[in-house]
Amino acid sequence: MTHPLTDRSSLTRFAWLSVAAAVATIGLKTAAYLLTGSVGLLSDALESGVNLVGALMALSMLTIAARPADESHAYGHSKAEYFSSGVEGTLILIAAGSIAFAAIKRLLTPQPLEQVGLGLAVSVAASLINLGVALVLLRAAKENDSITLEANARHLMTDVWTSAGVLVGVGLVVVTGWLQLDPIVALVVAANIVWSGFHIVRESVKGLMDSALPPKELAIIQEVLESHQENGIEFHALRTRQSGARRFVSVHVLVPGDWTVQQGHILVEQIENEIRAGLANVAVFTHLEPLDDPLSWADVSLDRPHPTTDQPA
Ligand SMILES: [Zn+2]
Ligand SMILES: [Zn+2]
Repeated sequence: MTHPLTDRSSLTRFAWLSVAAAVATIGLKTAAYLLTGSVGLLSDALESGVNLVGALMALSMLTIAARPADESHAYGHSKAEYFSSGVEGTLILIAAGSIAFAAIKRLLTPQPLEQVGLGLAVSVAASLINLGVALVLLRAAKENDSITLEANARHLMTDVWTSAGVLVGVGLVVVTGWLQLDPIVALVVAANIVWSGFHIVRESVKGLMDSALPPKELAIIQEVLESHQENGIEFHALRTRQSGARRFVSVHVLVPGDWTVQQGHILVEQIENEIRAGLANVAVFTHLEPLDDPLSWADVSLDRPHPTTDQPA
């Protein structure tokens, strides 16, 4: 079960961890650059600057997403998480593109290995920091249903995969003497990173587009509704969407017209409770209507005729 939405401001501590990791790796690479004057290390440090941007983005969006619902945002602020994950997914795709570009250039005109030594040692050390933080973030993302933390973790993992690819590539070249192996390994790494970035961007777009809940969660709702259909209750106009860590469900509940308001309300409260018991962080809205009134059945679609300008259907 994920943690309740009420204490989500504590998630920012994971973003702070990511900020600290970015500052540490920038410091490490800058120090190595100052010691050696290697331009490669300088551009490496600049790349870690991208991590800092990503971490600060995650920090600010998690801060906003944790705010409780208010009058101007009555459905809460949880969607803010998608801004951060969308940007991170894009950064991941750009990283993959630049790795692939450099690799293809080296594949076409093989270059002897650059002086590796300290540069490689520093980037491995930085990657170990990123790996540790990414694992902590991935776990927190899963426990808290946070796409922002997942995207930030995957972003850090791209650095880890890149360094691992460089190590393997350089190792293979040293063993075989075949220079092309280094860019080939880099291309494999780039393909893996593209997949990761694509996944994050797709999930962000789905959230921003108010996609329905995944089939597994829809099945939980269906099961609740079907258990009441046995008693002659009907349902329609079921609508669901995900908004960051929040889920929204709305459904019309059709009961015999001679029920009292009291009876109907007890039933919809029960249905809402059963859905809340099956899904974490879900807000359920119900609309009660009499089974035997044709009006009840004419309100299923989202777009309905305008009361004065459109002809009645
Ligand atoms: Zn009520
Ligand atoms: Zn209806």
